[in-house]
Amino acid sequence: MKIKHLFTIIMSLTFIATAFSQNKTVPAKGFAVLANDGKFKPFEFERHALGDDEIKIDILYAGICHSDLHHVKSDWGKEEFPMVPGHEIAGRVSEVGKNVTKFKVGDLAGVGCLVNSCGHCDFCKANLEQYCKENVLTYHDHDQFHNNETTQGGYSNNIVLTEKFAIKIPANADLKKVAPLLCAGITVYSPIHYAGVKKGDKVGVAGYGGLGHMAVQYLVKMGADVTVFDITEEKRADALRMGATKYVNVNNPEDLKGLDNTLSLIISTIPASYDPNMYLKMLNINGQLAIVGLPPFAIMPTIPIDKLIWQGNRKVFGSQIGGIKETQEMLDYSIKNNIYPEVEIISATSQSIEEAYQKVLDGKVKFRFVIDMTTMK
Ligand code: NDP
Repeated sequence: MKIKHLFTIIMSLTFIATAFSQNKTVPAKGFAVLANDGKFKPFEFERHALGDDEIKIDILYAGICHSDLHHVKSDWGKEEFPMVPGHEIAGRVSEVGKNVTKFKVGDLAGVGCLVNSCGHCDFCKANLEQYCKENVLTYHDHDQFHNNETTQGGYSNNIVLTEKFAIKIPANADLKKVAPLLCAGITVYSPIHYAGVKKGDKVGVAGYGGLGHMAVQYLVKMGADVTVFDITEEKRADALRMGATKYVNVNNPEDLKGLDNTLSLIISTIPASYDPNMYLKMLNINGQLAIVGLPPFAIMPTIPIDKLIWQGNRKVFGSQIGGIKETQEMLDYSIKNNIYPEVEIISATSQSIEEAYQKVLDGKVKFRFVIDMTTMK
């Protein structure tokens, strides 16, 4: 009788402890900008409690995307602060909810720009969650599935999200290089496939930075003949080393000669002011201009519609990251084919993040900064 009582008490205590831990928010710490001044500060915050279909990832690496700079500088409109940026995340699963099937504790996992979506709109049904009007971005968003909490990104020690939006990272991956695939990789992989690039196609990549150098690698692997466009001489040798057949310094008029009507696809990753018409003219009949670079609103380039009408069935489309299914496909493809970003690993301090931001603005990164979050004090 006594043993039965003891058992009941233990079970009750276990139940209470479990319920308590399930409702407990998850303490997190990282680096935030507290105002529109570009200054990073150590920042402690709470993430929502682990749900039944959610996992907690201990973040090991976080990439610095140019989109982070745009957000921090409010290039795309008013932002809310404090903001912990970071949507290129690689880490290890440290907790799983009771309904989780895709991951177990100890697995490697990644997160890109999305942590949730409605699941029932046409976009979600088509595996294009990035266009769902109710999706939840990894940071600078409000999570309607969790009491509208402000989402905070990957410059931090952990993240909690539904397993559906976490990407499986194979155990043999070179983890320190994986994080940028989750945004830079998928953002170019997706339009390359949407455009239907084939072996031997002559294609262009405009803007040879984090996104651009991933596009070059995917296109070269597919057997395309790649021309790279950027604004500096300093990246010419790198582009040719990565397999491009031609490098064009757009500030050199000689380099630009003879390119009109020659390319079937150009991907623009340019984050600054430029003339899209210059690239439109380089397309051949039915050629496509895929735009992924998103400059600040104040200097957003435009294409007058007369240019489209005069220029012979050339097509222009924009593209935003990729859906979760395609992101998993991209990650598996990249690791299988040994396609990785070239990264510079930095330590997790406010100072090193600020210095990295300045170097990105000055064109002094080859090709992606990745923060080693394990060095955070
Ligand atoms: P990076 O800064 O790493 O790379 C941008 C590259 O473009 C740099 O090499 C830069 O040169 C070059 N560049 C700048 N101006 C010109 C120009 N006029 N002509 C040609 N090249 C130029 O940025 P990311 O690759 O990280 O991001 C690029 C853009 O893509 C950003 O606007 C970002 O917000 C956007 N983005 C969009 C996504 C989407 O879903 N559509 C997802 C992720 C990012 P230099 O270094 O010398 O200045």
